[in-house]
Amino acid sequence: MPDRTLFSERLSEAMARAGLKQADLIHIASQRGKKLGKSQVSQYVSGKTVPRRNVVALLADILAVDEDWLADGAATPAAHAPAAQPAPAARATARSVAAATPASSHQATSQRSTPMRQFTKSAKLDNVLYDVRGPVADEAARMEAEGLRILKLNIGNPAPFGFRTPDEVVTDMRQQLPECEGYSDSKGLFSARKAIMQYAQLKHIPNVSMDGIYTGNGVSELIQLCMNALLDTGDEILIPSPDYPLWTACATLAGGTPVHYVCDEEAEWNPDLADLESKITSNTKAIVIINPNNPTGAVYPREVLEQIVEIARKHQLMIFSDEIYDRLCMDGIKHVSIASLAPDLPCVTFSGLSKSHMIAGYRIGWMILSGNKRCMRDFIYGINMLSNMRLCSNVPAQSIVQTALGGYQSVERYVEPGGRIYEQREYVYKALNEIPGITAVKPKAAFYIFPKMDVERFNITDDEQFALDLLHEKRILITRGGGFNWNKPDHFRIVYLPRMEVLREALTDLADFFAHYRQA
Ligand code: PLP
Repeated sequence: MPDRTLFSERLSEAMARAGLKQADLIHIASQRGKKLGKSQVSQYVSGKTVPRRNVVALLADILAVDEDWLADGAATPAAHAPAAQPAPAARATARSVAAATPASSHQATSQRSTPMRQFTKSAKLDNVLYDVRGPVADEAARMEAEGLRILKLNIGNPAPFGFRTPDEVVTDMRQQLPECEGYSDSKGLFSARKAIMQYAQLKHIPNVSMDGIYTGNGVSELIQLCMNALLDTGDEILIPSPDYPLWTACATLAGGTPVHYVCDEEAEWNPDLADLESKITSNTKAIVIINPNNPTGAVYPREVLEQIVEIARKHQLMIFSDEIYDRLCMDGIKHVSIASLAPDLPCVTFSGLSKSHMIAGYRIGWMILSGNKRCMRDFIYGINMLSNMRLCSNVPAQSIVQTALGGYQSVERYVEPGGRIYEQREYVYKALNEIPGITAVKPKAAFYIFPKMDVERFNITDDEQFALDLLHEKRILITRGGGFNWNKPDHFRIVYLPRMEVLREALTDLADFFAHYRQA
């Protein structure tokens, strides 16, 4: 079987050389009476899958390159390639020879026949899925490079949509920059951790001490760190479906087995507790909750959290709670940290400033250990080790945690009636539900909505194909439900951060698309 990454590189190189785009391949194939799907080609180009041999032969023929070279990078120069354009392997070799010595043409010729060793990605990545920036996003980038304007409703990054960082945060960082040149303590600056500790107190999280608070380059880094510290091969961890896919990816990369429990759309997307408990085995080590939730916008009520705690208590599980959207609740909902209900259990609570302070690019998040720390002594040893190994998180960003967490919270304006996030949610929720065949539960927090499509009405069997079709027809980029470890092709996620006029245009286009769409 050819190597995936390299196949995609060779394919891209041959396409560039032939001046052909993905759409051209599909078109030429169909002229020859062969069918190539858009999603199929996009997956080959992105390296997500490799084609069967007969498809390789077709592609090689269209691109006028040697089939064996395209299939497995065999050193044979491209048979059909123009003489002036040596095959990529030969070119690479020639380039490296030229760089090493002002070689004679004899040397260059003899080097050209030596096949270059192939560098493959680690097998650890084989089952890792991170589709939020996956093949459909790659296709959008390709279209943009061609000069097309794409409306991106796919990434929860507030700054590009006009959400500004509070001035005080920027001013304070500027002022402190000269003192941020060195590494900090590996867990973070005292001032930052003190502010986080006070924040934990306000959220009634019990048994928190300064040495149980760690800053990270975003919550992302800390999720990875915890999964690496906790999981051995065969260890299971319960993760919601749909999820924020980094959790599943990091658990998998760490060698653990993510086991997905269902969140129930009929019950406001709250976790299905019977399903959750039924999935616990003797190998289960922990439960992850994402509250408020990405992608559904759910906020779990206290009663649901209490029942999750009860299950964790009964089965002796750790609790990981990703609460990065806790300051973006709407409708007067007060967020409850699950750790505040579990003083006797080992808990890790994650949050940060990427969303609440619109500084996703500064990279600052944290985690708070609480509750029963005695039983996680060895795990703590592990996270200390990993935390030391990465030296420390971004120090300039740590320097403004105190400023950001104290005093007036400008984000509150966005999530109350009249505020941008609130009003945009109201509009998107209503407009989606007015589209025949689409239904959506109203999000209570964050800035995502996870609508359901009537798959029979639209004949949808492949959500990636749906996302590509929408992209090609309307130039709107969304993320398919499968990207959130949702195992049916019937959902997608919209980020409703763009301004109202842009959302209006997008929702009008979406309604127009669904008025006629039937998946081929
Ligand atoms: N957790 C959830 C649920 C998220 O949605 C995101 C980003 O979208 C993150 C964590 C990553 O946050 P950070 O920017 O702090 O790495």
